[in-house]
Amino acid sequence: MSTDCDVLIAGAGPVGAALACALAPLPLRVWLVDAAPPPAPEQPDRRALALGLGSGRILHGLGVWPVLADRAAPIRRLEVTEKGWPGVTRMAAVEIGAPALGWVLGDLALQRALLARVADSAVQRHAAAVTALAQGDGMLTVTLNGPNGDTVARTRLLVAADGSDSTVCRLGGLPRQARELPDSALLAQLSTDRPHAGTAHERFAASGPMALLPGAGCGDYTLVWTLPHQRADDLAALPAQHLLPIAQEAFGWRAGKFRGLANPRSVRLRESWLTRATGERVLAIGNAANTLHPIAAQGFNLGLRDVAAAAGLLADAAAGEADPGGAGLLAAYQHTRQADWRQLRQVTDWLPRLFENPSPPLASARGLGLATLDLLAPLKRRLMTHAMGLGGAQNRLQRGAWP
Ligand SMILES: Cc1cc2nc3c(=O)[nH]c(=O)nc-3n(C[C@H](O)[C@H](O)[C@H](O)COP(=O)(O)OP(=O)(O)OC[C@H]3O[C@@H](n4cnc5c(N)ncnc54)[C@H](O)[C@@H]3O)c2cc1C
Repeated sequence: MSTDCDVLIAGAGPVGAALACALAPLPLRVWLVDAAPPPAPEQPDRRALALGLGSGRILHGLGVWPVLADRAAPIRRLEVTEKGWPGVTRMAAVEIGAPALGWVLGDLALQRALLARVADSAVQRHAAAVTALAQGDGMLTVTLNGPNGDTVARTRLLVAADGSDSTVCRLGGLPRQARELPDSALLAQLSTDRPHAGTAHERFAASGPMALLPGAGCGDYTLVWTLPHQRADDLAALPAQHLLPIAQEAFGWRAGKFRGLANPRSVRLRESWLTRATGERVLAIGNAANTLHPIAAQGFNLGLRDVAAAAGLLADAAAGEADPGGAGLLAAYQHTRQADWRQLRQVTDWLPRLFENPSPPLASARGLGLATLDLLAPLKRRLMTHAMGLGGAQNRLQRGAWP
């Protein structure tokens, strides 16, 4: 068996698996490596992901949307409010003539669908972790540690899709910055007595921002509640019947009466980003490039746009028989992606801070701001377009037409 490939993707999480799907129809030898086993069919999702309309189009282009459409709960409306203050910004899919602003999907359901698609392709999958790199003559030599010990592979491009603690970025010398976050996310399944009709809520409460993402059942939501670490751990340890009234009190009655709460758990939040997402024959995508606070529910959406950009450039390189790890391609990737990365980092940075000061003059100004934004249709439409991942130039995969 040849140990040479054109593109070696390290990490078969949802972002690495999506890139493998995108590259599968191209005339490239592609490897996808991950030491962790793929999620088992019965394994419950770790979290619900809110996907923008733009991500839905990319998943359509990758051929996985038909499998996922039935499980995806549509987000038809979004309401942004602050508890205890009047003022609301409402965004509705009908305002832009779309069927939905986006969808809510389980992370492992998504990863399984992508990996099933990869399994039907010529992409080679290997159960191994990248542990070392060496530059060679127009190739990178990559050490892979698998069940039978170390092997080596040679590749023209190595893609770091290995998550927040990316070994590949470290080995490739990609510079990382990190910000210590005081927050955890408390996640739980909630049921309410009022049909949600596809409404998602982003509610700024005194205890911390709370998101309710609509689920498949008519009153079912996923709760994502940002709290200081200790508070999140303490609440997650409570019996569900004790946590339920605390969550209701914090959120208020905007989504109706909370009737049931299940599977509370707390997750430490992290934030880190690369100041340059490319190195010699290496580029980074997904959490390896940017790990964001989930307040704007954008991490995976951003990672899918990395996939679309990298796949578009690699398709052009393959068509022109150019080097997939060449300096021109790497520079173009960094150039194409950096504005999107910077903007989202800014949003996830200022959004929690904007709502953290409880002083009445500031809170009432925020209420006025939310109410005013609700009336400013053109500005609101622009924000919606960006939040759905439809801002800026869209390449072929982003338009859902691939390869
Ligand atoms: C509470 C919470 C809520 C969120 N909600 C949303 C949301 O609503 N919408 C949204 O868009 N995003 C959301 N996100 C973000 C989203 O979950 C991530 O952006 C996404 O899962 C990142 O996927 P990834 O494939 O880049 O990384 P990962 O899922 O971390 O995958 C990395 C893979 O790399 C493998 N790996 C590690 N080291 C190596 C190595 N050395 N060699 C080979 N493989 C390796 C690992 O085994 C793993 O399989 C949320 C995040 C959190 C924490």
